[in-house]
Amino acid sequence: MIRIGIIGYGNLSRGAEAAIRQNPDMELVAVFSRRDPKSVKVKTEGVGVYHVDDIPSFKDKIDVMILGGGSATDLPEQTPKYAEMFNVVDSFDTHARIPEHFANVDEAAKKGNNIAVISVGWDPGMFSLLRMVSTAILPEGNNYTFWGKGVSQGHSDAIRRIDGVKDARQYTIPVDKALDAVRNGENPTLSTREMHTRECFVVAEEGADLARIEKEIKEMPNYFDQYDTTVHFISEEELLEKHGGLPHGGFVLRSGVTGLEKENHHVIEYALKLDSNPEFTGSILVAVARAAYKMKQRGDKGCKTIFDIAPADLSAMSPEELRAHLL
Ligand code: NDP
Repeated sequence: MIRIGIIGYGNLSRGAEAAIRQNPDMELVAVFSRRDPKSVKVKTEGVGVYHVDDIPSFKDKIDVMILGGGSATDLPEQTPKYAEMFNVVDSFDTHARIPEHFANVDEAAKKGNNIAVISVGWDPGMFSLLRMVSTAILPEGNNYTFWGKGVSQGHSDAIRRIDGVKDARQYTIPVDKALDAVRNGENPTLSTREMHTRECFVVAEEGADLARIEKEIKEMPNYFDQYDTTVHFISEEELLEKHGGLPHGGFVLRSGVTGLEKENHHVIEYALKLDSNPEFTGSILVAVARAAYKMKQRGDKGCKTIFDIAPADLSAMSPEELRAHLL
């Protein structure tokens, strides 16, 4: 049995908790939070919630810690800190800062003789793996990544910060025309605006100036100004009823050529359609926790990404079973 702990209890951690129940070789031992443990209610019966200050006392009771913290401020601090004590897995998704995060975590994990797998989820994570493998197979070609249709938490938060906005949900939507052109092997050069549109559902405070809110959304630098954005004002009830979930998904495509004259064309496509982003991401973290456990058992240490994981390490099946059933 692989003994798992979860540090930080938000959407992603609840997803990982549910995933552990679907993996009979794993058990959830404890959940840790920076909040008062009495205020945090976990779903799994018999699993205790402890304050993060108690983490060191679990050193011999937990094989792998899953970190559910946010990428902006939690993980840069928490992952190196806990990698010195435990094998850890995180879903750090600030792409530009991955090299810096890797270096910090690597130093800590090596000091503690532990394995730390960072930036696993679907992007970064499964999409990164698909981009890498497709590029290795078809070295001459182009990669395309489309996200959605799905809720972007970062963009929804940005709208919520506008004066007069009570609540909001933002969907990122791939543009069909662009997706079709890639699928047809046209190798298009696509601008940001040509690849995705953004659709916003906004609950405004009573008496708020709707035209001003819409203008502020559409002109928000980086978040919306480079996209065609639609804004719908709706009631709080409608937002809860129709936009309460966290669906997401997307497509990774590589369009490449082979042959002496480069006469043959190939398209590789990997698609995800997810009802729940945190539950799917949590499921990936759990499979990767198993791989971290196996790597540690072989005496490996240091920071790893999805590129460093042998595929069979993710599976609960033996090598014989894998060869017989899934090869
Ligand atoms: P949440 O905001 O739900 O949780 C983040 C942290 O906030 C938790 O660890 C928890 O820490 C704290 N928290 C949670 N709920 C509350 C609350 N009610 N009051 C106060 N604090 C709370 O974030 P998500 O779980 O949605 O996402 C976590 C990260 O997952 C994202 O930042 C993103 O980086 C990553 N992610 C990565 C993906 C990928 O493909 N790589 C895909 C999806 C997400 P504590 O218990 O200590 O207070």
